Amino acid sequence: MKISVIGTGYVGLVSGTCLAEKGNSVTCIDIDQNKINKLKKGVITIYEPGLEPLFKRNTNENRLRFTTDYKQGLAGSGVIFLALPTPPDENGSADLSYVLRAAKDISKYLTEYTVIVNKSTVPVGTSKKIYEQVSKYTSVEFDVVANPEFLREGYAVQDFMKPDRIVIGGCSDRALAIMKELYEPFVRQGNTIIAMDALSAEMTKYAANSFLATKISFMNDIANLCERVGANVDNVRLGIGADERIGKRFLFPGIGYGGSCFPKDVRALIKTAAEYNRPLTILKAVEQINKKQKKILPKKVFKYFNGDIADKKFAIWGLSFKPDTDDMREAPSLDIIKRLVKLDAKIVAYDPEAMDFTRKLLTEEGINIDFAPDQYSALEKADALLIVTDWSEFQNPDFLKIKKLLKKPVIFDGRNLYQLDKMKNENFHYESIGRPVVN
Ligand code: NAD
Repeated sequence: MKISVIGTGYVGLVSGTCLAEKGNSVTCIDIDQNKINKLKKGVITIYEPGLEPLFKRNTNENRLRFTTDYKQGLAGSGVIFLALPTPPDENGSADLSYVLRAAKDISKYLTEYTVIVNKSTVPVGTSKKIYEQVSKYTSVEFDVVANPEFLREGYAVQDFMKPDRIVIGGCSDRALAIMKELYEPFVRQGNTIIAMDALSAEMTKYAANSFLATKISFMNDIANLCERVGANVDNVRLGIGADERIGKRFLFPGIGYGGSCFPKDVRALIKTAAEYNRPLTILKAVEQINKKQKKILPKKVFKYFNGDIADKKFAIWGLSFKPDTDDMREAPSLDIIKRLVKLDAKIVAYDPEAMDFTRKLLTEEGINIDFAPDQYSALEKADALLIVTDWSEFQNPDFLKIKKLLKKPVIFDGRNLYQLDKMKNENFHYESIGRPVVN
């Protein structure tokens, strides 16, 4: 099938590459000339495990191409995917301007029946808006399908190639047949394609992300209470996760959720609920807890140093909002760094993939920190180590080396990476989330 993907970011590049991997002929379109130039030269613009070999194979075989030119990129495509940003606007609603602008731009180049598939996360009712927008500028027949994307950064290729489910909403019989043909190779193992109306498909995406964010904030709240009462959240997690109704996954407390999806999607659903006069009180609490949780690590640091952190040096391991991605959108590390720097602390950070993005973001805000070439050199003469992202290389480090390099053996672990017994035996002062302090 000949396919175009509009928007070549995390979702667009992964979707385009995976669709090409199944034999489709795919053109990815983006307005960012710099991005397209890099992709054309074979440089992948995001860090996503497993993407590179697929990208190389499909570009080499000319099944995957890149352009900034809509006319050229859309020529002959029967299916057009929209993978455009939907950032929050000033009042928290999803900003639809990118999606609607692209809808207008593609409408000029439709020449025969086309299925326009929206993968961007959008408020209920957006499929209709896209339909109306395209209709204004073309008389060619088309359908709009809501097809929310559930891929997780860090597992995006795996999630796209073997999805738990594919949700498609608002399909005519003609569009449904095309969507099924397109997705059939991805659901060979029996996972389902769930067809529904467009409004429900759009709501499904927000409900899924909001439920996951709720799980995180719930566990963070419980973890904070565990600290107060002297319980250990690890035990509580295992105890509740054994109940199949609750499940083991997504129960790890931490320093708050970030990334390009949960924060904005929770905010957008709160906004939609308010617009329909059905306030989602639970999500307001989820958001509030998350904001507070992002401050928890600096708070612990501040308390340990009796409020005096001016000119103290802190090593930070991990910057991206989660491991296996270079995505820095709403990353808790940024909040932590800003709070510490505001109090005149010095920061030396290390992240396997996200240092370039972080440097750029912080420089834009006039914030100066140092970056280390590896995880251990970040520690040299630092007053403490802060663990912010649970990259696997931080999970079993050389504790002797850490002790030698730090001024004193002090770790604040926002990801609960280490066993309390181990830290006691190694003589660390070790503070984590929802677990007793090791002294
Ligand atoms: P992104 O910012 O990484 O990529 C969007 C791309 O669209 C950018 O490269 C931008 O230059 C391009 N673009 C903007 N306007 C354009 C236009 N008019 N024409 C062509 N290209 C244009 O965003 P993303 O993370 O890929 O997210 C895209 C959508 O998918 C969002 O709605 C997001 O909520 C949703 N989503 C994201 C993820 C994720 O993990 N990142 C997962 C599921 C769903």
